[in-house]
Amino acid sequence: MSLKLEHVTYTYNPESVYETHALKDVNLEIPSGQFLGIIGHTGSGKSTLIQHFNGLMRPTAGTVYYKDENIWQEGYSLKQLRSQVGLVFQYPEHQLFEADVLSDVCFGPKNLGLSEEEAKERAVAALRQAGLKEKYYTSSPFDLSGGQKRRVAIAGVLAMNPEVLILDEPTAGLDPKGRDDILEQIAYLHEERKITVILVSHSMEDIARYVDRILVMNQGQKAFDGTPKEVFAKYKELETIGLAAPQITYIMHDLYDAGLAVDTQAITIEEAKESILNVLGGLKS
Ligand code: ADP
Ligand code: MG
Repeated sequence: MSLKLEHVTYTYNPESVYETHALKDVNLEIPSGQFLGIIGHTGSGKSTLIQHFNGLMRPTAGTVYYKDENIWQEGYSLKQLRSQVGLVFQYPEHQLFEADVLSDVCFGPKNLGLSEEEAKERAVAALRQAGLKEKYYTSSPFDLSGGQKRRVAIAGVLAMNPEVLILDEPTAGLDPKGRDDILEQIAYLHEERKITVILVSHSMEDIARYVDRILVMNQGQKAFDGTPKEVFAKYKELETIGLAAPQITYIMHDLYDAGLAVDTQAITIEEAKESILNVLGGLKS
């Protein structure tokens, strides 16, 4: 098991008028190598949750384990944890600070104690895997587009060779093409590096085709947890918490209700097309 949360509760501004119970008794296990999507509308506790994974936030109550070790036990190295569990923030600007892209990405590995040369090697490999073109390596990270900035921020975390990569709404603010490019790149990284990837999003549609598992957060608690097919099967319940299954789920259910025995669990357009053609083909013969 890579990460494990036991009865994790987090309260902002406890015992004041601003008290907010952001996480309430969350239990969660994330196996190594899993591609997990975390979904929920704004304020459901997603960002608070993931900051517990690398020890940026300390639970008000409960325990966080990384590889079976309590990360808040005395003597545990949070610095080492944060190099193994990398977090890409929602706003990449918050994570960029050096004058040029290459120096920016070198910062992490150098901080780990690697030589200039080794750091550069790691940085170049990371920038390649994050899909940033070489011509930008000497640019100021602040002059780049939103999508390119995200790639630099992702590379900065990858250069640490993390075992877990967490991305908080990496598609926020991008146009549909930029969004698809980044998601494809993340899926490729998961495939290529065989690392655990945790992807936070507020859109089911976006992540449905990529992840192994979806965790739905609502009001600081786990609302649903399962494979995309298992979670989307509860599409009516999802609506009651302000979320929706992918549009294709609705179409397939409507077709089914109209008497066409299609697979209502199809998640992608391709799966749906196959299933519809199968049923129609069956009608002909
Ligand atoms: P999400 O990432 O799903 O939008 P958050 O984890 O940011 O959710 O927020 C969960 C709850 O905690 C919300 O009610 C939010 O208003 C509150 N919250 C988040 N950050 C802070 C903060 N720094 N101080 C006080 N309350 C906060
Ligand atoms: Mg958030």
